[in-house]
Amino acid sequence: MSSLYGLTLAQMRSSLKEAGLAPYASDQVYDWIYRKLETNPDNWSNVSNKVKNFLTENFSLELPKIVWKGESRDGTLKFLLQLYDGQTVETVVIPAVSNRLTQCLSTQVGCAIGCTFCHTGTMGLKRHMSDGEIVGQLIVVAQFLKEREQKLTNIVYMGQGEPLHNYEPVKRATKVFMEDKGLNLSQRKITLSTSGLVPQIEKLFDFPPVNIAISLHAAHDNIRSELMPINKAYDLKRLFEAIKKIPLKARRRITYEYILIKDLNDGEDDIKGLMNLLDKDKSKVNLIPFNEYPESKFKKPSEEKIKWFQKSLLDNGYTCTVRITKGDDILAACGQLKSKLDTATS
Ligand code: SAH
Ligand code: SF4
Repeated sequence: MSSLYGLTLAQMRSSLKEAGLAPYASDQVYDWIYRKLETNPDNWSNVSNKVKNFLTENFSLELPKIVWKGESRDGTLKFLLQLYDGQTVETVVIPAVSNRLTQCLSTQVGCAIGCTFCHTGTMGLKRHMSDGEIVGQLIVVAQFLKEREQKLTNIVYMGQGEPLHNYEPVKRATKVFMEDKGLNLSQRKITLSTSGLVPQIEKLFDFPPVNIAISLHAAHDNIRSELMPINKAYDLKRLFEAIKKIPLKARRRITYEYILIKDLNDGEDDIKGLMNLLDKDKSKVNLIPFNEYPESKFKKPSEEKIKWFQKSLLDNGYTCTVRITKGDDILAACGQLKSKLDTATS
């Protein structure tokens, strides 16, 4: 049975209509689920029994279960979620200034891309997540936060999985997040990060116009191929041809994520390479000091080296930030997610 949480408002309206029921009841259902975070139909007091019965008989209302959670010293929360078939994924909530609360969403169980620096990549792809599961992971976390009187303000597709490898479900989930009768998240509050799946990047004109982040990580093909096997299929030339076609609203930029790894991509040559590839006015560089995890073979550069790398780009007129590592004491930082109970609890 497909999940109720995978339905956009228009889809819910038309399925009610087809069943001879009042389509506007969808607006009330959306309000209960996404505004009040009430997922038990028994409590939908202004929704008719006919509508409730139709929806519960035709759609699943099951949510992922929180099987473990942890809170880092810096306030980052990590949740291990169990899906209907027993598979587990992780999702993280990251606090920032001025009450900003960002949820980092997973899109697949594991990941097929196999980047050599990424803990998730070592798992391989177990399966895609459905649209209902992608939305469901937000609902359970939002329900948990509501108890603490906290509310999510932003989402990033930077958890486990390659979002563009699971294009349609991620697109539908994004539409659900943006529904104005529901969460009403603006496209500016949503960021999709991709490792560079060229055919899907070329389809982005058909995706809600959210912020796009490209996991670049190297400015030369030989280094990028060593880090990201996908570069052997779609090299930097093809990647940038595709990026040029991404429709960008006025004054919006693409973010380039660049993991800094000691003695691998942190030198003068790499800065020159980045400057050759990136247009100052259309790019933002986000440097991510490599997060170490058990068995990782790479190291993080020294603080001085990271500062020098950032300053070199800033001095050349680039917008460049360094991502502060959050949640590393509970293995919730970028690339540390592996969704095993043993790593989550260690
Ligand atoms: N698959 C997508 C989105 C999820 S990965 C992608 O790769 O873009 C989210 C971010 O975490 C990416 O920028 C990824 O490169 C980064 N990341 C992965 N492993 C990391 C590690 N060990 N240290 C720091 N960042 C890492
Ligand atoms: Fe997959 Fe992203 Fe990890 Fe690469 S960095 S293996 S694309 S999750």
